[in-house]
Amino acid sequence: MIEIDLYSDTQTRPTTAMRKAMAEAEVGDEQQGRDPTVNRLRERVAELLGKEDAVFLPSGTMCNQIALLVHVRPGEEVICDQTAHIITSEGGGGAALAGAMFRTLAGSRGMFAAEQVEAAIRPDNRYCPRQVLLAVEQTSNLGGGAVWPTKRLAEVAAVARKHGLKTHMDGARLMNAVVASGTPAHKFCEPFDSVWLDFTKGLGAPVGAVLAGPKAFVREAWRFKHQFGGAMRQSGIIAAACLYALEHNIGRLAEDHSNARRLAEGLAQIPGIAVEEPETNLVFLDVSGLGMASTEFRDRLAGHGVRMQPLKGGRLRAVTHLDITAAMVDEALAAVRAVAKRS
Ligand SMILES: *Cc1c(COP(=O)(O)O)cnc(C)c1O
Repeated sequence: MIEIDLYSDTQTRPTTAMRKAMAEAEVGDEQQGRDPTVNRLRERVAELLGKEDAVFLPSGTMCNQIALLVHVRPGEEVICDQTAHIITSEGGGGAALAGAMFRTLAGSRGMFAAEQVEAAIRPDNRYCPRQVLLAVEQTSNLGGGAVWPTKRLAEVAAVARKHGLKTHMDGARLMNAVVASGTPAHKFCEPFDSVWLDFTKGLGAPVGAVLAGPKAFVREAWRFKHQFGGAMRQSGIIAAACLYALEHNIGRLAEDHSNARRLAEGLAQIPGIAVEEPETNLVFLDVSGLGMASTEFRDRLAGHGVRMQPLKGGRLRAVTHLDITAAMVDEALAAVRAVAKRS
């Protein structure tokens, strides 16, 4: 049985207090713009991110895909890091739905530089795909939970704007970046046209994400939400969990970050395991030195009640979240030590 689930911060369960907020939510028809709880969430997130308006959606993936549909016409190009979730983990949706082409950059820890964007800009002629969008991820997921500094975000966005591209931020873990850096969310978002926040990662809600941007962008996003069947009814029930998360679960992300550091420090002391220093709640380790593939390590670790996500080769990802305590990190480390000794 898995007792310590480090697979992802999506594994959190809504708490009793969150469920109570859900049960008591005032509701209406969201599809007609008449759910007061959803509307309150939209306003709160728009304000938090410094944008004019926002739309409630069932998932972060839908936020990315709808943003692509609004920004990109078939055959047009999006520039992003090669590790971006939008291309690695959304089932090819960008190509299937928006007809987007992707120009990938080889960033470092999922973050690229202004010069790399400049170098990727194509001549403006009818032979080349038209480039219309620059996308970044804050924090960068497969980049190790790294936090883009505001200055770097402003620099890459400025190059994009200079060449007429719009800018999009995948803010699945934006609040982790906010808590880790002390930078307010709207500062990170300022140079970006569209940005979204996921409530089902470290914020601990069961469903929901909010996509924000200028009024005209959000009006178009509503159209695609409707086309996808993502326009809901009494969804204040789930929006209430998101509002609860905004009120109670942001500051505590600092605990996830300290637990991630505790985990990384412990892992670094185990011979045969290499670990990347975490900046937020994502810890990447490599167990090649134990002579094991990540899947074998995963299976052996599961035998001790601990779950991690295997990646290619010997690499794995372990994620701290709301349902992981410091004591559980210590237990997980004991399990890793046992697996490393093959005992
Ligand atoms: C999880 C994640 C998404 C997708 O969010 P879902 O709510 O799971 O659809 C998008 N981007 C990044 C960086 C993520 O980590």
